[in-house]
Amino acid sequence: MVKDRYDVVVIGAGPAGSVSARFAAENGASVLILERDREAGIPVRCAEGVSLKGIEPYIEIDPRWIASEIDIAKLESPNGEKTYMYNNGKGYVLERRIFDTALCEVACNHGADLLTKADALDLVWEDNRIVGVKYRYLGEIKVVKCDIVIGADGVESRVGRWAGIDTKVSLNDIETAVQYTLADVDIEDKTCEFYFGSEVAPRGYVWIFPKKGRTANVGIGISGDMAVEKGPKYYLDKFVAKRFPRATITYTVYGGVPTAWGLEEIVRDNIMLVGDAARQVNPISGGGIVQGMIAGEYCGKMAAEAVKKQKFDKKTLKKYRKNWDKRLGANQKVIHAMKEKFMKMNDEKFNNLMKICNSIPPEKFTVARLFKEAVKDDPKLVLQVAKTFVTAKFK
Ligand SMILES: Cc1cc2nc3c(=O)[nH]c(=O)nc-3n(C[C@H](O)[C@H](O)[C@H](O)COP(=O)(O)OP(=O)(O)OC[C@H]3O[C@@H](n4cnc5c(N)ncnc54)[C@H](O)[C@@H]3O)c2cc1C
Repeated sequence: MVKDRYDVVVIGAGPAGSVSARFAAENGASVLILERDREAGIPVRCAEGVSLKGIEPYIEIDPRWIASEIDIAKLESPNGEKTYMYNNGKGYVLERRIFDTALCEVACNHGADLLTKADALDLVWEDNRIVGVKYRYLGEIKVVKCDIVIGADGVESRVGRWAGIDTKVSLNDIETAVQYTLADVDIEDKTCEFYFGSEVAPRGYVWIFPKKGRTANVGIGISGDMAVEKGPKYYLDKFVAKRFPRATITYTVYGGVPTAWGLEEIVRDNIMLVGDAARQVNPISGGGIVQGMIAGEYCGKMAAEAVKKQKFDKKTLKKYRKNWDKRLGANQKVIHAMKEKFMKMNDEKFNNLMKICNSIPPEKFTVARLFKEAVKDDPKLVLQVAKTFVTAKFK
């Protein structure tokens, strides 16, 4: 039974929210997760690609939510030249519908409570301090009191704004995406594919992530400022018609991916933001599942520590930001600068880059190497890239 008061209320049962809730509960805080849908993980708005290394610290690997295993990345340049990468570690294409629920169950098994069909509507304030969350549950307006709110409500997050945090990102830092799950496709086994070029995906890329049998997630993400004239659907339809003329669309996803470096502010008195809500997504790959989980660990642990100390002010909670920056956050600015460089390359440069990549021995060709080659003519960036690891779904 849900109580009227908790130490921590987490808004959103995506990967970032569930992992935050798990670490807060595991470390002694009482935790409630509010999720507006009828279960975690629906509707799926994701290509579902993750690295094994990224998820295994957080959940026991279970074939129930693995749609396929990935060992190889194939890249295709505008002129059709193909490059294969074999050295980025094992990856999975998930069944997020099942995965997100399983991750949420981990949080519940550590003591968190979950209320689904609970739509957070606003924060509750007393004497200028956040003291709870107002939400709608089965048509009724309710209030739950708490000391800390964790906003894990995804890319369209409103929680940050309710707290007065500036969560806006510019149009060129939002990737607009469309994806079809296609049946009856011929694809290479254990291989995810990426296609680049101004005709295929201006300032973005097309991906093919194989799922079970002859199905695949085939999608496109392009920079928001490129989507004004022709949207991503135009380019994806063109690609699918050519590559998979017989395929049937079984599921369609429209979505936005924040590809900014992050937010200036993710913490205020009594509140923390995490995951897409805090723009903690890899700016190049658009991968946010693992990044959200990593941030969730720091966020949840911080919440529990604050509860133990009974200190909920911004200064105390800022340790979460510090830990995130130490682990990944500080790299985000470099990856963002690389994105700017990479996405603005013209077709000729892309073709040249692929040629160079094809001359690298396969055992030495990694994502890090690809980006080093891409920024070669910018010595300052080369230096930064040398210190940086590209994480999330390309890893
Ligand atoms: C087309 C597309 C493809 C992608 N592909 C990949 C990929 O291959 N790999 C990868 O790593 N990332 C990918 N991403 C990004 C990834 O989906 C997100 O980064 C990730 O889901 C973020 O997790 P999260 O927990 O922060 O937010 P979400 O997973 O979005 O979860 C937020 C949760 O909050 C709930 N919620 C929202 N508002 C409220 C409210 N008011 N009250 C209660 N609950 C609320 C939502 O229902 C949802 O369950 C993709 C994104 C898109 C759009």
